[in-house]
Amino acid sequence: QAKKASRNTLRFFDQQMQDAVTARVALEDELRKAIQRKQFRLLYQIQVDRLVRPLGAEALIRWQHPERGLMSPDQFITVAEETDLILPIGQWVLDTACAQLKTWQQDACTRNLVLAVNVSAKQFRQADFVARVQATVQHHAIDPALLKLELTESMLLENIEDTISTMNALKEIGVQFSLDDFGTGYSSLQYLKRLPLDQIKIDQSFVRDITSDSSDREIVGTIIAMAQNLYLGVIAEGVETEEQRQFLVGKGCEQFQGYLFGKPVPAEQFAAELITVVDASLDQEDAKERL
Ligand code: C2E
Ligand code: MG
Ligand code: MG
Ligand code: MG
Repeated sequence: QAKKASRNTLRFFDQQMQDAVTARVALEDELRKAIQRKQFRLLYQIQVDRLVRPLGAEALIRWQHPERGLMSPDQFITVAEETDLILPIGQWVLDTACAQLKTWQQDACTRNLVLAVNVSAKQFRQADFVARVQATVQHHAIDPALLKLELTESMLLENIEDTISTMNALKEIGVQFSLDDFGTGYSSLQYLKRLPLDQIKIDQSFVRDITSDSSDREIVGTIIAMAQNLYLGVIAEGVETEEQRQFLVGKGCEQFQGYLFGKPVPAEQFAAELITVVDASLDQEDAKERL
C-alpha cells in the first residue's frame, strides 16, 4: 500500500515537473519569436527634480503576449537571461530607447530629457557591448549624455577590473551611469568609489517604509549623505506619497521616480502627461514666489 502511494506521489511529481518543463520550453520558444513578431513594448516612467520638474524617464520593458496579455519583466527577464535571449532583447531595448531620445530631441519641450535604460549582467559582459552602445548612439545620432545606463551592484562586483574598464570605455562615449536597486546588494564603499558612476538609485524597498520604519529612515539618510560625499547624484525610486517625497527632500535627495509623479506609460501618453507635470511644477514655483 505504502509503496503504491509513494509510486503515485512520484508519478504526481513527475507530472508536475513535466508540466513545468513543458511550460518553460513553450515560454522560451515564444520569447524567441517575440522580437520578430514585435511583441515587446517600452513604457516610460517620469523622473523629476525637487520642484517636480521633469528631468527624464526610465524605460521599462513589457511583453504584449498574444494569449497571456501584458507581461511584466519579472515574468520573463530571468528566462531571457538564462537562455541568452536577453542579448537580442537588450539590443532591441537600447535601439528603441535611442530612437525615442531622437524623437524627444526634435521637440523643444522634451529635448533635454535623459532616458535611463536597464542593462542586464549578460549584456554588460558581452565582449562587444561598448561597440554596440557606440554604434546604436551613432546610428540614431543622439547626444550620448542623454542616455543613462542602469547597472546593478551584483553585476558590477562580479569582476571588478573588467567592470571598471568597460565602464571607462562607455564613459568615453559620453553616456551616464546610475547604480540601480542600491542598498540591496553588498557594495563595498572601496569598490564604489572606483566606479565612474553618475548616480545612485535608492531601492524602493527602503523608500516604501520611510514614513513608518525608523531604520529605513536612517538607511535612506545615510545613502543620500554617502552619495553627496562621493559627489554622486541620487534618485529615489518607488516614491508613492507626498510624505515620502517630503522626507527625501529634507534629507537632500535630488531626483525622484514613482507613482506619485507617474506610472510607466507608452511614449505618446508620456508626452501628453509631461505637459500636466510641467503645469504642476509651474504652480509650485508660483506658490514659492508668492510666499
Ligand atoms: P527596476 O529597474 O528597479 O525598475 C523599477 C520598478 O519599480 C519597475 O517595475 C517600475 O514599474 C516599478 N515602480 C516604479 N515606481 C513605483 C512605485 O511608486 N511603486 C511601486 N510599487 N513600484 C514602482 P517593472 O517595470 O515591473 O520592472 C521590474 C524590473 O525589471 C526592473 O526593476 C528591472 O530590473 C527589470 N527591467 C525592466 N525593464 C528592463 C529592460 O528593458 N531590460 C532589463 N534587462 N531589465 C528590465
Ligand atoms: Mg531600473
Ligand atoms: Mg530599481
Ligand atoms: Mg527594483
